[in-house]
Amino acid sequence: MSTEMIPHWLDKRAFLSPHETAIVFDGNTYSFQDIQQKARTLSSQLHAFGVQDGDHVAIYFKNSVEMVYLVHALTYLGAVGVLLNTRLTDKEVSFQVSDAECSHVVHDGDIPNIQDIPSTTKLISFNELSKLEPEPCSFYTELPQDKPYTILYTSGTTGSPKGVVLTYGNHWWSAVSSALNLGLTENDKWLAALPLFHVGGLSILMKSVIYGMPVYLLSSFDKERVHNAIMNEGVTMVSVVSVILNRLLDRLGEERYPEAFRCMLLGGGPAPKPLLEKAKAKEIPVFQTYGMTETSSQIVTLSPGDALKKLGSAGKALFPAQLSIQHEDREAGANEVGEITVKGPMVTEGYFKRPETNEETIKDGWLATGDLGYVDEEGFLYVVDRRKDLIISGGENIYPAEIESMLSGIDGVIEAGVIGKESSEWGEVPVAFIVGDRKADLNQDLVVKYCREKLAKYKVPKEIHFVDHLPRNASNKILRRELVHWLKQRRHME
Ligand code: ATP
Ligand code: MG
Repeated sequence: MSTEMIPHWLDKRAFLSPHETAIVFDGNTYSFQDIQQKARTLSSQLHAFGVQDGDHVAIYFKNSVEMVYLVHALTYLGAVGVLLNTRLTDKEVSFQVSDAECSHVVHDGDIPNIQDIPSTTKLISFNELSKLEPEPCSFYTELPQDKPYTILYTSGTTGSPKGVVLTYGNHWWSAVSSALNLGLTENDKWLAALPLFHVGGLSILMKSVIYGMPVYLLSSFDKERVHNAIMNEGVTMVSVVSVILNRLLDRLGEERYPEAFRCMLLGGGPAPKPLLEKAKAKEIPVFQTYGMTETSSQIVTLSPGDALKKLGSAGKALFPAQLSIQHEDREAGANEVGEITVKGPMVTEGYFKRPETNEETIKDGWLATGDLGYVDEEGFLYVVDRRKDLIISGGENIYPAEIESMLSGIDGVIEAGVIGKESSEWGEVPVAFIVGDRKADLNQDLVVKYCREKLAKYKVPKEIHFVDHLPRNASNKILRRELVHWLKQRRHME
């Protein structure tokens, strides 16, 4: 474990480029010096509130400049930020606050209804906190690479969310690795419309300080505002997930983004092929990326030179990282599907209080991701699906994401979810849930006919259910395990 020190990154940045823009939010501009001063004062107020070095402080905020101050304020005290998803239910918030052993909770005024947590846990709103008399204390001037900085919970797509401990070193290397791939220009301005409580959003803040780059921060995704920021506000990079990209493409219509817009970083989940093709036709520089909470965001990303010729691939492992596909305890060959395993300085050392899971998933620094994928002859990664969702039908492997991607190409299909259903004949067979546009004339025959043209026979869904929405978790990811319940309920009703 490294004990290297990094100079305190916000102090260093405020020293190097005090008057440069750090954040643009709600029509206001904040320099690095502004952020530094606010963060320093706030850390003395956190200290007055009782926060000590190593304490776990839950942060319950929607994106705002105050949240930025708070995230940086923790660094001066050495406190660990537990960033909570504001879309969680009260029960889920309560679980994360107690599971992460938070001594304090700071919220933005929208108080979560937290129950069943130790009575010693102290709650405060940002407003109240900022009225406290600052209490002088000693500040960290160097950030130890191996010191935990944040605990972020995974989305809970495959099971219950797990608290991922990420150190200063993890965040540092994540930012550096991204720049080594995507490069850095003087004009870069990164738009953050994704929530900062997820690693994809938080990593933009880290990049801002480490690169000296302005962040155009939005309180939430708003199609019009993102479109306008790219067209008129000089934004050069945007991080998106596929649902957002889809909406932006619709908004773009026949227009084209300015030349200076150089990167639409697409991650967080599968990227349906029809979506990538649509984006290509509109000349949008989409870079697919693969990563997860455990890897401090990206770990595998397409490079500017490969983006167009490797449509559908998530790219190669970033410079300091390594990638290996494991199949039956050996390295898989080219184009052979196996479990994606990754290693690198941005990879977590483990989940908080989960020694068994840590032992199972992290070996010699290699993290078994639970995702399936393959690399082609040139080493480009293609993510196929989550191992838990694999459907085995008559001995053949079926990846639900492949079918979902294909279904999303049908005119009038808004989204689709595919799961396996037990079959006495085949073991399992695929079943699809489809959300269609009300105006579209979708029906089972049409969908099946389309599937038969595009898919091998065993992959064609044996049942199609038209529904008006799909179950999603607080991170907006489709919950296939919930679809399994839906299917059972439908069986009962029949
Ligand atoms: P949990 O671990 O609790 O089940 P989660 O895995 O959804 O939740 P996150 O860390 O938010 O939690 O998401 C990371 C996952 O998102 C990856 O492991 C992978 O399954 C999926 N993902 C990320 N990027 C891609 C990509 N480019 N293609 C396909 N899937 C991706
Ligand atoms: Mg996961």
